[in-house]
Amino acid sequence: MARYTGAVCRLCRREGTKLFLKGTKCHSDRCPIEKRNFPPGMHGKDRKAKIVGYGLQLHEKQKAKRMYFTLEGQFRAYYEKASRATGVTGELLIQQLERRLDNVAYRLGFAISRRQARQVVRHGHVQVNGRKVNIPSFQVNVGDEIAIREGAKKLIIIEQGTQYAAQNPVPAWLECNFEGMSGRILSLPKRKDVNLPVNEQLIVELYSK
Ligand code: SF4
Repeated sequence: MARYTGAVCRLCRREGTKLFLKGTKCHSDRCPIEKRNFPPGMHGKDRKAKIVGYGLQLHEKQKAKRMYFTLEGQFRAYYEKASRATGVTGELLIQQLERRLDNVAYRLGFAISRRQARQVVRHGHVQVNGRKVNIPSFQVNVGDEIAIREGAKKLIIIEQGTQYAAQNPVPAWLECNFEGMSGRILSLPKRKDVNLPVNEQLIVELYSK
């Protein structure tokens, strides 16, 4: 499947906010947003137009899409599914994004960023209920046991991720065993459990036009 392979810090600069795509660097003064918070490109500094209406809605959608590394078609499919289900569409949209296996691997500390977690999943290092699953978009369910495969526990990126995650709180909907490199889904994520700088209502307004 196609995916963005360019410099991810450009994506943050394009959106004008931190999207936390690079793990530890995002929390340091090496983060480009700290020094160059203007859009990338030759004329980035000159663009000062205030973003309103459609532009704002588009920005919110791009932010969410980029934070979870999904492409337009897949993101739209999440919206379509959320809009057909019973409940608040925006919250259901965020719930589906959070339930992706690569996101859960990131939240459980198997990697320092979602991008790295995606790689960990793609390389077959993650098991769901004892079986290898290498599909980053796999949707986890309540009661699922997520773990790092025995042979992959010594991998440096996974050890780094665990150390990094041990300093950050684990969301209430997950149970994490840092030493065992495993975790369990306690409940489906609610909006208040998800720390995400995105206004999902604007995304719903954009797609429901
Ligand atoms: Fe974004 Fe992190 Fe790069 Fe900063 S370091 S611009 S937050 S990806």
